[in-house]
Amino acid sequence: MAKKTYHAPYSPCPHCGNPLKTRLSRQLSELSREITMQCENPECLYCAVVIQSHLRVLQSSMNPNPRVFVPLSPRKYPLNHDGQLDLLNNG
Ligand SMILES: [Zn+2]
Repeated sequence: MAKKTYHAPYSPCPHCGNPLKTRLSRQLSELSREITMQCENPECLYCAVVIQSHLRVLQSSMNPNPRVFVPLSPRKYPLNHDGQLDLLNNG
């Protein structure tokens, strides 16, 4: 069975698999956020503080903040000087 991929903001409870609901959230820096999450299952009620952080860049900002650095993700296809996929040179 393929591993499930969840898209934000859904996050499953690590104990029962039900959705975790965001209770509190605060910005720690430009790149990280502290989030208090609680399980919606009334028979579980797991509650935890988690960190949301930027790990790698998939598309660089067109309006970059000079204080922010996030490493580029390795790409399968290199971009040309215009930031477009260079499909002609990837045989
Ligand atoms: Zn739970």
